[in-house]
Amino acid sequence: MPVVRGSCLCRGVKYEITGPLMRSGHCHCSNCRKAHGAAFRSRARVRVGDFRWVQGEELVKYFESSPGFHRGFCSVCGAPIVNRPERTPELGIALGGLDDDPGIRPERHFYAASKAPWFEITDDLPQHAELPPRSEVPGA
Ligand SMILES: [Zn+2]
Ligand SMILES: [Zn+2]
Repeated sequence: MPVVRGSCLCRGVKYEITGPLMRSGHCHCSNCRKAHGAAFRSRARVRVGDFRWVQGEELVKYFESSPGFHRGFCSVCGAPIVNRPERTPELGIALGGLDDDPGIRPERHFYAASKAPWFEITDDLPQHAELPPRSEVPGA
């Protein structure tokens, strides 16, 4: 697959994804809403080995928003970049930071039960009250 490039708002941090983006969706949990200042976080997962820093890794700071879950953001411009869940050898990618079309499209809504009261979900994608176990939702 072609390389998918991404960067932060100030362009100080740049990265490349060289493998498949998986389990893409919109996350409405309160932590994602706070981190993004938005109704939801659009994200996908990539394997750790399919992610490469191009420049600015030293600018990335991590905030542990819940035990074992580290949210990486640019310390200059504040843009969310990559999340590191300790329990899996994957990274969470903020789709809004991508500079190329990743090919995939968000397939579900996660944590729909936690969505902002001022936002209505108006598409037909499946909605999950929380994060469904992988065994229950192939591809999720
Ligand atoms: Zn930046
Ligand atoms: Zn979330």
